[in-house]
Amino acid sequence: MIYVTVGTGIGGGVVLDGHIYRGVDDSHPEFGHHVIDPSGPSCMCGFRGCWESLAAGPAMVMWTRSEAPPGYPYLGELSAKRICELAVEGDTLARQAVERESYYLGLGLANLVTLFTPDAIVLGGSVMKSASLFLEGIRKLIRESCKFVPWERTELSLASLGDDSNLIGAARVWHYHFASEVARCVH
Ligand SMILES: [Zn+2]
Repeated sequence: MIYVTVGTGIGGGVVLDGHIYRGVDDSHPEFGHHVIDPSGPSCMCGFRGCWESLAAGPAMVMWTRSEAPPGYPYLGELSAKRICELAVEGDTLARQAVERESYYLGLGLANLVTLFTPDAIVLGGSVMKSASLFLEGIRKLIRESCKFVPWERTELSLASLGDDSNLIGAARVWHYHFASEVARCVH
């Protein structure tokens, strides 16, 4: 399964046969920096059009700000959360921002489905607290673009641990790095 967190950035992890997948030098994949559109916005990694630069929370804010007409009343209070609220309230620009967010989230997730054919993709992070606004668009994109893999068998679900996910993950990292050492010292 693959976990994807969407907040101020996009990160994730792959669980393969019950274990966190680690690559060369114990590294982990950087989903947020796979390129979706090379003509897209600059990314903090120095390249352009990474998934994170198009679909993380700040990307939503930046796009909405750049498209806002003169006198748009919500400019001073924009955050991904606020944009989602405005979309629910029917604000046209916020609805477009949500549509764009669904599209770019969907592109990245469709790539993961095509590349990994996972049993499940679990979505977490602050932006995913508004997942109900994006899921339909995401599913549509996966349906349309993952033609050569059994995309319908990949379960798309939301993280059940909520805000505790990061803390539990951090504790697991500590355990992975140090617990065996501690055990050695004790014995
Ligand atoms: Zn990047």
